[in-house]
Amino acid sequence: MHYDTIIVGGGAGGLELAAKLGRKYGRGAGTENVLLIDRSIVHIWKPTLHEVAVGTLNPQQEGLLYTTVARRNHFSFMLGELTEFHPQERTLTVGELRDEDGSLLVPESTISFNKCVLAIGSGSNSFGTKGFENAYVLENAQDAQRFQKYLFGRFLQTSHSDKRCLNVAIIGGGATGVELAAEMTEAYHEMHQIIGSANRFRIEINLVEAAPRILLAMPEQVAEQAMEILERKQINVHTETKVVEITKEKVITDKGEIVADIVIWAAGIKAAERNQTFGLETNGINQFIVNEKLETSAKYVYALGDCASLTLADGTRIPATAQAAHQQASYLAKQFWAAVQEKPFTETFQYQDSGALVSLGFDKGVGNVSANHQTHFFIEGIVAKWAHMSLHLMHHFAVLGLKRTVLLALARLAQKRVSGRLKLH
Ligand SMILES: Cc1cc2nc3c(=O)[nH]c(=O)nc-3n(C[C@H](O)[C@H](O)[C@H](O)COP(=O)(O)OP(=O)(O)OC[C@H]3O[C@@H](n4cnc5c(N)ncnc54)[C@H](O)[C@@H]3O)c2cc1C
Repeated sequence: MHYDTIIVGGGAGGLELAAKLGRKYGRGAGTENVLLIDRSIVHIWKPTLHEVAVGTLNPQQEGLLYTTVARRNHFSFMLGELTEFHPQERTLTVGELRDEDGSLLVPESTISFNKCVLAIGSGSNSFGTKGFENAYVLENAQDAQRFQKYLFGRFLQTSHSDKRCLNVAIIGGGATGVELAAEMTEAYHEMHQIIGSANRFRIEINLVEAAPRILLAMPEQVAEQAMEILERKQINVHTETKVVEITKEKVITDKGEIVADIVIWAAGIKAAERNQTFGLETNGINQFIVNEKLETSAKYVYALGDCASLTLADGTRIPATAQAAHQQASYLAKQFWAAVQEKPFTETFQYQDSGALVSLGFDKGVGNVSANHQTHFFIEGIVAKWAHMSLHLMHHFAVLGLKRTVLLALARLAQKRVSGRLKLH
């Protein structure tokens, strides 16, 4: 098999790139132009994983089937996991697929390409913390769904226990940890409405951050406002606190111990160890080092999003965010299309900082946004929440188009009205 462009990883960046390129080729173009490979069959936009994890977003309803998106955007899709990469030969290997009972579904295959984009995202950075395996992580939709089942099990168990208190520890006070803590209090309040007064229980959420403040990557004003909202939600925030060990019952920090029935790790990212075997230059957290055209150390091989490390000429390091992945996808679509049309393309990737937004439950958010990428202004409350929700809609818009995005948003609203906000199964 041979394709002109292969994109591995259909996440926030990869799926947008495949859709944009596919649409440029248009209906009736050859199926060998653009191939997207992903190890999952359903796409969930990663910034919503904390909502999936606490049951306030239904992945069955929100997930996009890659095959459907591919058909509508005129690119090909292959289900499978990238296992080997040979940049000199310009080939890659997609591992075999087996059923749960071990029977072979799809054999291993080797595919060649003219150019390839690696957009395989990242996982968690444990920083070598002892007992890390006792913590839950939110790296993909499966993790989030597994956690959701576990959380509701613990909600029910606690509501029938003598202790009547569920102790939760969230490690990492970045956007993921903060959003998860806030969303979990919402899920808890919804749960209380369901279980009735006889089975009420308390929840104690501890958010642990090693840095002097939460949301270190965001302006201080955003962090201060988020802190106020977290305090109002009775979330205990421990800053300048380093986790030393995680056990099944507690989190041991350099400041003391925190009782924890559930521990979630949301502190830092690290790309897959396997990336080191791909014959490309990588950094200390296994990201592919790319230049300002998003080229890796090998010709015709590019990387974007969380799996790529880009430092601009002025020293700016591109953050591992959906915003950056989205902008890189748009840039590569432009670059590749110029090549198809045999037009010169000298532009380098320019990062436009549109600000940062944090969702803090159903009707609150906080952030700083910019219309012109220079002057940022502070927003909060429901306006910030809507702005945060609009990012998800914009991602859907990029891959589904306006009509389907509106339909999906309306369906989501209707579903919530009918079935309630919480997914319990
Ligand atoms: C809970 C949470 C909240 C977040 N909130 C925000 C936010 O509010 N704003 C923001 O900008 N960012 C946020 N982020 C970060 C953001 O989600 C990531 O920066 C972004 O998703 C990175 O996009 P990506 O395309 O590089 O990778 P991903 O979106 O992670 O996609 C990677 C894709 O590659 C596939 N894949 C991985 N390995 C392989 C392989 N070997 N073979 C085949 N396929 C593979 C995966 O299945 C996945 O589909 C959040 C992250 C989390 C976890």
